[in-house]
Amino acid sequence: MPHTLTTCTFCGVGCGIYLETAGNRIQGAYPSLCHPTNGGHLCVRGWHVNEVASAPDRLTRPLLRSNGQFREIGWGEAFGFFADRLKSIRDRHGPDAVGFLNSPRCGNEETYLLQKFARCLIGTNNVDHGRGAFRHNSIDILLDMLGVPASTTAIRDLDTSDAILVCGVDLGLQLPTIGGRVMRAKLNKGARLIVIDPRRHRLAEHADCFLQVRPGTDAILYGAMAKVIVDRGLADTRFIKAHCGNAEAFFEALHTYDLLWAADTCGLTPDAIEEAAVLYGRAAAAAILFSTGVEARGTPPVQAIVTLVLLSGNLGRPGAGLLALAEHNNLQGVCDMGMLPDRFPGYVPVGDAAGRARLEELWGGRLPAKIGLDAQALLRAGSGLKALWLCRHEPVVAASAEVASVLERLDFVVVQHTFLSETTKHAHLILPVAAFGAEQATFTNTERRIQLVAKAVEPQGDLTPAWRQIVALADAVGAVWSYGNATAVMDEIGRAVPAYAAASYNNLARDYGRQWPCTHDKPLGTRDLFEDGIPDHGFRFVAFPRPTALPYSTPECPFVLSFGHSLYYWHQNVLVQHSETLRREYQILLLDYPEGFVDINDVDARALEIRDGSRIRLVAPTGAAVTTARVTPEVKRGMIFVPYFLWEVREQILGATASIPGSTRAPVCVRIERA
Ligand code: SF4
Repeated sequence: MPHTLTTCTFCGVGCGIYLETAGNRIQGAYPSLCHPTNGGHLCVRGWHVNEVASAPDRLTRPLLRSNGQFREIGWGEAFGFFADRLKSIRDRHGPDAVGFLNSPRCGNEETYLLQKFARCLIGTNNVDHGRGAFRHNSIDILLDMLGVPASTTAIRDLDTSDAILVCGVDLGLQLPTIGGRVMRAKLNKGARLIVIDPRRHRLAEHADCFLQVRPGTDAILYGAMAKVIVDRGLADTRFIKAHCGNAEAFFEALHTYDLLWAADTCGLTPDAIEEAAVLYGRAAAAAILFSTGVEARGTPPVQAIVTLVLLSGNLGRPGAGLLALAEHNNLQGVCDMGMLPDRFPGYVPVGDAAGRARLEELWGGRLPAKIGLDAQALLRAGSGLKALWLCRHEPVVAASAEVASVLERLDFVVVQHTFLSETTKHAHLILPVAAFGAEQATFTNTERRIQLVAKAVEPQGDLTPAWRQIVALADAVGAVWSYGNATAVMDEIGRAVPAYAAASYNNLARDYGRQWPCTHDKPLGTRDLFEDGIPDHGFRFVAFPRPTALPYSTPECPFVLSFGHSLYYWHQNVLVQHSETLRREYQILLLDYPEGFVDINDVDARALEIRDGSRIRLVAPTGAAVTTARVTPEVKRGMIFVPYFLWEVREQILGATASIPGSTRAPVCVRIERA
């Protein structure tokens, strides 16, 4: 069969894969042996990506809702309807009555054009990729403390790490091929593995040091590790003096940390914390990997993790650095493209007059200076929103009645998507877009690698890529956007985002893409952000004094809820459910618990006289839900793990905002009753 080298777009690793085609159909997928992130490995999602790409129920014609029914219409009618509605809403209610949400599944080109449409043609900064609450924490902190908004190193450089610290991320489920690389670094190269997580997941089983931290206390744990590193004389004082500001305030605040108190608070022994700190602090080259499990807890844990990196001087050397892992395939890219309500492309703050003027000149129009609303704010009742453009964004999942009712009250909802979903039910206009494998686009993975997603087959019927539709819709509202092809869009991205200046379809097709900065003086990209040297005083410590009390959990509600993934259920599952194999595997998960389950620690279960498989009621101040207990030692005492697919449980416990992305992982405490 013919095969085409491309990139798996299920998660942030962006593994290199070959798509096998027969006729105009994608028949199979297999891994690229030489790709720098996956090197011949794929996870179960990547092996079955062809099933999603070839799903027979893809949308092919625009759909217009009238009298509660959808009917097929032509493209001309769809674009005309869109332009009339959007212009009249903007003229009547002002630009900020319009919102634009896309998804980290969107490519760079469509993201860039969508936010340009919002800012340049409508005049609003109401743009968001919908994962803000998590990623904004990292972006803001990394920019503040390191001066960069992304991972500093490369995934393949984990092969040269002496120690790898994995914080709050179940790599085996979330980013499996990175999990495999970490395991190989340990087993084949002798790297010491430290895992910090409330769950004893697969990687934790193989760790040299596993700290099963009490949920929500991880910032205290990292602070205690920092204290041990300083007390044992392991801090890299020469690095700190030369490169870091605000060190005095940080060290002063660190004095307030007490190892015994921290150990007690985190549910660990002081020896375990010391062992982890010394392992990390003594390593010649150590890497830290973290993801949403840390980001969702707010700013202190992320600040504390960056602090460990600065204290030990682990930057700018092979095997050393920080990987701020993005779970979604193009989360890094949509942030780089400016799909943020407070930043233009290239992370220029919307209040920065000089940066705004530069983009105004490039785009030929005035840009708004007021910070826009993010996804959470836009999707709340009373936000003032009248029209919403959703590009592959899925705010509505089964049972999310509140968000559905917000959408129903809007004057206009347009959705660009490949499939019908819970969200498309609430659209006035659905515009189907070309699917994965049928369009050429770029994605930027979690290590800043800008990668080309190749076109293996022709799109069905007269479907076009999402970026081309956005251009047509811009023309429909009166603009003249003359992008002849995707290459022209990429060229403009290079002018708007300096780190992409030398990235072109031509060179991205070689060598498995380029890690940004990819500039004219570094056209091959940049493997390590500090490979050319560490800036003098370029970094900054943040002082975080010891908290006076536990962040949350009360005697009335002593269990902390933690939400997480299943390998076969990926985010809102809109794509995975179109794979026969992944859907079947997901069903197997539920054989013993047909109505779903939550994980509860075996000792906690015994104390509450709860058996495996029994019905329990989780009661929080915001609501209550009845579900089934899966009793397991995998979870820490004092926590309840809720898999993402239990939407009803989330909705019932968290209330109105449960299904708004970004609001679901804020710590929530419950008590358990037998139902
Ligand atoms: Fe695809 Fe991610 Fe699996 Fe790689 S790890 S095959 S990118 S889902």
